[in-house]
Amino acid sequence: MQQHTRFLIVGAGVTGLAFAGRLAERDYLICESEAEIGGYCRTVVQDGFVWDYSGHFFHFRNPDIERELVTKIGGERVRRIERDARIDYAGKLIDFPFQRNIHQLPHEEFLECLAGLFSRTTAPPTNFREMLYAKFGAGITDKFLVPYNEKLYATDLGRLEIGAMGRFFPYADAEEIVRGFVSKAPAGYNATFTYPLGGAIEYVAALASDVEPEKVLLGERIVEIDLKAKVAKTARRSIGFEYLLSSAPLPRLLAMCRVPFEPSSFTYNKVLVFNLGFDRKGPSGIHWIYYPSRDVSFYRIGFYDNIFDTERMSLYVELGYASSANLDAAAIAQARARVLSDLERAGVISGHRLVSEHHVVLDPAYVHITSGSLQAVAEHKQLLAARGVYSAGRYGSWTYCSIEDNIVEARALAERFNTLTRAHLV
Ligand SMILES: Cc1cc2nc3c(=O)[nH]c(=O)nc-3n(C[C@H](O)[C@H](O)[C@H](O)COP(=O)(O)OP(=O)(O)OC[C@H]3O[C@@H](n4cnc5c(N)ncnc54)[C@H](O)[C@@H]3O)c2cc1C
Repeated sequence: MQQHTRFLIVGAGVTGLAFAGRLAERDYLICESEAEIGGYCRTVVQDGFVWDYSGHFFHFRNPDIERELVTKIGGERVRRIERDARIDYAGKLIDFPFQRNIHQLPHEEFLECLAGLFSRTTAPPTNFREMLYAKFGAGITDKFLVPYNEKLYATDLGRLEIGAMGRFFPYADAEEIVRGFVSKAPAGYNATFTYPLGGAIEYVAALASDVEPEKVLLGERIVEIDLKAKVAKTARRSIGFEYLLSSAPLPRLLAMCRVPFEPSSFTYNKVLVFNLGFDRKGPSGIHWIYYPSRDVSFYRIGFYDNIFDTERMSLYVELGYASSANLDAAAIAQARARVLSDLERAGVISGHRLVSEHHVVLDPAYVHITSGSLQAVAEHKQLLAARGVYSAGRYGSWTYCSIEDNIVEARALAERFNTLTRAHLV
């Protein structure tokens, strides 16, 4: 089958839907390889539990975007929560972020962190790891920041750029840290967050309400893009296009377009998520806990039941892996057994009965932002844009961002086309 559209959109996640929803000219098609929309913001509803593909909690900086989405969902369906996040440090729960709560550590370790904070190196950092030591000193960095981030990113932190986590990293200078010892105000970009009763997919559905459903082709993976002829292929059809917006991971887009690239510029981790439903309540009040210890398999767990105020513990459990890790059925079964035993050791479950479960591998999950990746992304995006192909979104732009950032980026791009369209009409 041969078709033609002015705008071909690859992916019906937040980016693809936000872009389509904002286009003034409604001549577009969205190809989505999965059987449903939402990308990484999909939600699983099972046996009375509501789980996202991974813990997704939302912190909007732009009140207009938040108001628009919440109005579409219905304000009464969106919970607004003041964060209660903790760190399991050697079996004791302390408040997050670690660097602002070192006074909650055992006395000797508190003094060690404090001494490190005030005797930190003055040499300008050249990478993420060095930045941690330069900002926070050896105590805080060795006890939490390095082990936690190594578990998460599954790579040597010396490879990552200083700003690898952007605004998502809870920076604080020494004076702020000391002042924080007596302040009760929660710090960081996500001190309060929202979450819809039906899970992250409700935000996606709000965006999708601006998109004509018949223009979303589900189960249609784009497998090949001919940049010269401007034709993309799925297993079922060829689609000619004038412009293409892709939210697929950038290296996969380059492969589809047969554009040569250096794979070592695009490294990333995978995250294996277990969603677990139990027969009764676990710890109350806490929304998520970080686990820096290398003796614990997961780096973070979160409690949906403490967001929904429900009676049965509903957890997400996240494990970080190198991209090369083989996560076949046997490896996942082994990881699951280890997770259940680690949850028991950490005191999260104690004789609880697991009554429902689900797992998913996010591949890629966190991209490694390196000097090589920044350069490769900029160069390849420019090369593709010259051919009318735009790569956007968390994986299309190969970055660390939130859904709000995806919406802002996608809508800004749509507005550029709208301006072009208006100029042609005048
Ligand atoms: C562990 C984790 C936790 C997160 N937590 C939060 C959070 O709390 N709050 C927050 O705001 N954000 C969070 N995020 C980020 C958020 O998930 C992303 O920013 C957002 O989902 C990205 O949307 P996207 O549309 O750019 O990409 P995706 O969600 O990846 O969507 C891309 C879509 O393209 C489709 N696709 C790919 N290739 C093809 C192809 N060849 N043909 C057709 N379709 C294709 C995919 O199936 C997918 O549906 C988190 C991310 C991770 C990994």
